[in-house]
Amino acid sequence: MQNGLAGHRARKRFGQNFLHDEHWIERIARAIDPKPGQTIVEIGPGQAALTRKMIAGAGHATAIEIDRDLAAWLKETFPDTLTLIETDALKLDWSSVHPQTALRVVGNLPYNISSPLLFHLMSIADRVIDQHFMLQKEVVDRMVAEPGSKVYGRLSVMLQYRYRMQKMFDVPPGAFTPAPKVTSSIVRMIPKKQEELQPVDWEKFSSIVTAAFNQRRKTLRNALSKLLTEEAIKDAGIDPGVRAEALPVLAFVELSHRA
Ligand code: SAM
Repeated sequence: MQNGLAGHRARKRFGQNFLHDEHWIERIARAIDPKPGQTIVEIGPGQAALTRKMIAGAGHATAIEIDRDLAAWLKETFPDTLTLIETDALKLDWSSVHPQTALRVVGNLPYNISSPLLFHLMSIADRVIDQHFMLQKEVVDRMVAEPGSKVYGRLSVMLQYRYRMQKMFDVPPGAFTPAPKVTSSIVRMIPKKQEELQPVDWEKFSSIVTAAFNQRRKTLRNALSKLLTEEAIKDAGIDPGVRAEALPVLAFVELSHRA
């Protein structure tokens, strides 16, 4: 089998759904468009469906794989063109990955860890050029949702604070082996520049956003009652009678300044 590891049985606990359809592999690779000399870091290379394309475009790639059998096969298959870090991407100290180098991060992410991984990667957003991920469509829809949408929530606000995000296209279950139960989507994330970011105390921002969406049908006055007085909400220029789903990202920043 040219495009994989013969005999490898997909491991559910590692969220293994391998891309096998060349049409989709090529389309994703084109969206990423790796160029010679760029530092590409792939999370979960698996059987190298995307890795091969990244190496073909950039000449070299770095990949993080938790599955020992796949890691051994990857090292053997790409002895010179792939730097393999055999570990859990969630536990990895990302500051040690090509320090001080601008990174392009890609991955067909294991769905069971996608949200924590997105948050974990914020620690290196300052030196990331862009991130292209395949995730469950439902998660991507939440990431890019705008105020007023039913799926606008904590994930939308926290990620949109830090990244510009664009949903690229959907990928059907049949593109994978084994086929997942749901449709997937590709999302592009580009970190905002430091000067574009409104300063926030991350802990306060996070608790305001979490509380505001915890009971999303409540007004801000009620949802935030443990963190902010009604006066403080008004001081931020926000009507305490509205719900969190109506507020743009910057309104949460304003609220966090008063917490
Ligand atoms: N990139 C391949 C593809 O598109 O066919 C594989 C994608 S598969 C959905 C997810 C991959 O991530 C698997 O290779 C799996 O072993 C790996 N993986 C799962 N959890 C991981 C973790 N915590 N850290 C690093 N890799 C992980």
